[in-house]
Amino acid sequence: VAGHFHAQAVVVGGGPVGMLTAAELARYGVSTLVLESRERVSERPKANTLHARTVQCLVRRGYLPPPGHSAGPVTGAFHFAGQPGLPITAPCNEPAPVLKRPQAELERLFEERARAAGVRVLRGHRVLEVRQEPDLVRVSAAGPDGPVTCTADYLVGADGVRSLVREQGGIGSEVHPATATALAGSVRLADPDALRPGWHPTARGWIVATALPDGSRYLRTLSAERGPSPSRLPPTVEELSAEASWIAGREIAMGEPRWLSRFSDFSRLALTFRSGRILLAGDAAHTQFPIGGQGLGTGLLDAVNLGWKLALTVRGQAGAGLLDSYDLERRPAARRVVDNTRAQLALMRPDPALDPVRALFADLMAAAAEGGYLGGLISAQDTVLAARTADPSPWEGRFLSNLGLATAEGATDVVRLLAQGRPLLLLLGEPGERYREQARGWAEILHVVRAAPVPDLPCEALLVRPDGYIAWAPGAGGLPQALAAYFGGCAGPGAPEGALARTLS
Ligand SMILES: Cc1cc2nc3c(=O)[nH]c(=O)nc-3n(C[C@H](O)[C@H](O)[C@H](O)COP(=O)(O)OP(=O)(O)OC[C@H]3O[C@@H](n4cnc5c(N)ncnc54)[C@H](O)[C@@H]3O)c2cc1C
Repeated sequence: VAGHFHAQAVVVGGGPVGMLTAAELARYGVSTLVLESRERVSERPKANTLHARTVQCLVRRGYLPPPGHSAGPVTGAFHFAGQPGLPITAPCNEPAPVLKRPQAELERLFEERARAAGVRVLRGHRVLEVRQEPDLVRVSAAGPDGPVTCTADYLVGADGVRSLVREQGGIGSEVHPATATALAGSVRLADPDALRPGWHPTARGWIVATALPDGSRYLRTLSAERGPSPSRLPPTVEELSAEASWIAGREIAMGEPRWLSRFSDFSRLALTFRSGRILLAGDAAHTQFPIGGQGLGTGLLDAVNLGWKLALTVRGQAGAGLLDSYDLERRPAARRVVDNTRAQLALMRPDPALDPVRALFADLMAAAAEGGYLGGLISAQDTVLAARTADPSPWEGRFLSNLGLATAEGATDVVRLLAQGRPLLLLLGEPGERYREQARGWAEILHVVRAAPVPDLPCEALLVRPDGYIAWAPGAGGLPQALAAYFGGCAGPGAPEGALARTLS
């Protein structure tokens, strides 16, 4: 494809975060173009773990199947800094808290959904230049059939750790240089018993081995003692073998590498996730040492936070500051991930002086009911968003768990009611009815549902965002003020019935 395109939104980078963002935008009726330099999804093993809050949001947005009803909370086992024994618990009626799913599989799913929703995906197109003007963004790319230019109202940079969008958008970063050497690769061990699948801490570092279906091993090595590797060259199998042997303190011979790569504990947090018409998401906005399975999940949470906000903005249906709330909500979340991965790496240093600290952490994990602070941190289930309304109720900013609800149409739950993608105004019992009238001006945006009162939810009404967080509950601040903050002024009784409702589905 060569030539010129215009779209309401252009997404640079069609990795998992870019494809999910594009799918979200298109599902809300925004014309969206993705420019991705790779011809196809990379099959290299990368992320394999998604944590509870990411899974819960993907379920609410319909990318993962809705959970069955459970009698009680569900607990999964995880680790902190490579130390096993961290329980992570998800509330009743939510999916299991730790989902194992190869990144490539998720990438294919998001791309399929994006294409099905009408996104134009241009693979094999490398973006070379991004320029922001007062009313639009201009993009130039090199494609297999020649140059491509594109204009858009907004641009999302989901182009990974070396983001050209971030650089050319003039967005600075807070950076923590690498302190450790890490290698990864899929290889065949001369003696498969030389490294059994699992985590291998030694006096010099760590080796993590995963068995692959063809009998080979996916290895990652971490050596924190020797500082960062000065080499920028692709690693060789000899280098990986020497590194693993040095860490293990014995010869680990290997061959037949399928692929090899270097990574490190370099971390970066963009100083802002929004600069005018340019937004950053995923590794382009934040990157850190891949410990604890949080990088991809954090990026996917960016996408589900950004999608509906940017869609409403493009459609002129957003309250002042709604799009800015993307940065205000997601940057602190990404900072916590950058900080906790740095803390985990510090705990993984072989220095014997750290042994008592490690023992203390092991005790804290064992003592913490349902995962405690660390479980909430790693799974992002402790996220409470900053309030957006004046005089907020204590519910505002909290995630609404998947409560069962009884409506006139029958039994349902929060996940199913959010499936339309529209903000949900939940009226609980007769006292909730008075809020129906107050919300009438926003009827075309909202999904209004009356349900029987729920003992676990001592509220008359709740306004729930499409990503599952509570936007408002009765308190000092009124519902119309909250609706205006999120969705702009009242559309009024003369507004075209159902126009936005149709696209918000
Ligand atoms: C060894 C390893 C293990 C990991 N394990 C986990 C885990 O278990 N759980 C977890 O949550 N995370 C994990 N991560 C992190 C996770 O893989 C990343 O956070 C994730 O890939 C980020 O997705 P992204 O879409 O933001 O960026 P990427 O996946 O990097 O996608 C960016 C895309 O942009 C494209 N692109 C770049 N520049 C341009 C350009 N100029 N023009 C057009 N296209 C461009 C690239 O081709 C790429 O497809 C791991 C990472 C590594 C390295």
